[in-house]
Amino acid sequence: MTDLFTTIITSPVAKMAGVPQPTRLRRYEPGGPLCDGPVLVAGSGPYVAELRQWVGAAGIALAEANDAATDKIGAIVVDLSDATDPGQLELLRTLGPAVKRLRTNGRVVVVGTDPTTLTDPAHVATQRALEGFVRSLGKELRAGATANHVLARGTASDGLRSAVEFFLSGRSAYVDGQVVRIDETRGSNPTGEQPLAGKVAVVTGAARGIGAEIAKVLARDGATVVAVDVPAAGEALAAVANQVRGTTLPLDVTSPEAGATIVEHARSRHGGLDIVVHNAGITRDKLFVNMDESRWQSVMDVNLRSILRMNEAILGEGGLGDGGRVVCLSSMAGIAGNRGQSNYAASKAGVIGLVTATAAAVADRAITVNGVAPGFIETEMTARIPFATREIGRRMNSLQQGGQPRDVAETIAWLVQPGAAAVNGQVIRVCGQSMLGA
Ligand code: NAD
Repeated sequence: MTDLFTTIITSPVAKMAGVPQPTRLRRYEPGGPLCDGPVLVAGSGPYVAELRQWVGAAGIALAEANDAATDKIGAIVVDLSDATDPGQLELLRTLGPAVKRLRTNGRVVVVGTDPTTLTDPAHVATQRALEGFVRSLGKELRAGATANHVLARGTASDGLRSAVEFFLSGRSAYVDGQVVRIDETRGSNPTGEQPLAGKVAVVTGAARGIGAEIAKVLARDGATVVAVDVPAAGEALAAVANQVRGTTLPLDVTSPEAGATIVEHARSRHGGLDIVVHNAGITRDKLFVNMDESRWQSVMDVNLRSILRMNEAILGEGGLGDGGRVVCLSSMAGIAGNRGQSNYAASKAGVIGLVTATAAAVADRAITVNGVAPGFIETEMTARIPFATREIGRRMNSLQQGGQPRDVAETIAWLVQPGAAAVNGQVIRVCGQSMLGA
């Protein structure tokens, strides 16, 4: 979705006049390479050998730190998960020349250990330092390059592989400066073009915007999709369902029977339920002092209370099977707050709370519950924001552009893969490393 301003600043005349141009982000294409160019694997940690092996298995060449022959590299993966003393962080500094050699849309992935699992102050400090490094580097990288951080644990190498591959790939185009924690040892090899084959996925709010894109990406990855939206969205919903060869379920998510109806539809029409994406959401903005009851209640009902209520059926007897996946849409507003959005921000912060608590409650069934918090995504919702505010929102991130609905969809499609079983109870920002709430 482009508007007049974007058309003007990306016009040939603007380019000739030297107006800074946002880099075209490398986005995932089935069958395409995992990443664009050789990968430098560095570090002293226990995963270095496996990381090299995975890069090789993906058909990508390994780069050497001082190899002048490979002048441009696609990604740098550093394993410092063994570092116990700040002195060992010097290794990061020596990677400066390699960072200079990163190609457009390059990637830096730093593997560490979750500091909350450690006790020795120097050890904790060293591991926590990695996060500060990654977040700063993300802000310095240019030309669509990103830096992200994976917290590995023990022998959880399947989960680590899945996360590293996500960050190297075009699936993570608009995910920058983020930390993903690998919790468990479960997980399976995530590679393959149809990781969701045989899965039944329900997407709410699927008639348009981000929800329609989630439906398309999950179907592309092999899932059978049930597209849910309000009855009034009937035609648009049918068009999405036709496109993904799925079924429609016209339904208001705030209705008391919504959860049971979803479970019943998935079971009777498709034989089961594996994935639920709670995407339906609304905004009813007003400064807090002028906030009326209807704006407050409707936003809380659609964005938060409906998910709590639907989850009772979805996670109850006869709902999601073991190994099921739930993903909830939060928002940057729920992390940073936003003027005029006290109702929306409260509902989306509430979603983060429900993700954390629900994930813990269902972990023993191998079900995962995660969230994604989009920043500025180009949709009808954001097209309605007044011009000046919209331009600020769009540019105030490390990638200097708004994200596409597909960027949110790709992150969700990764979280629901069998290979991402080790990621649970987390909220991943898809915001190009927004300066808000950073
Ligand atoms: P959108 O308004 O384009 O689409 C939302 C869809 O949800 C619509 O099809 C609508 O009919 C449906 N819906 C609303 N109420 C419903 C109900 N009661 N029952 C069933 N369906 C209902 O919005 P979007 O921009 O695609 O946003 C999708 C999600 O992402 C929302 O939860 C939103 O809060 C979140 N989000 C969006 C952005 C962004 O930049 N667009 C940023 C952060 C978070």
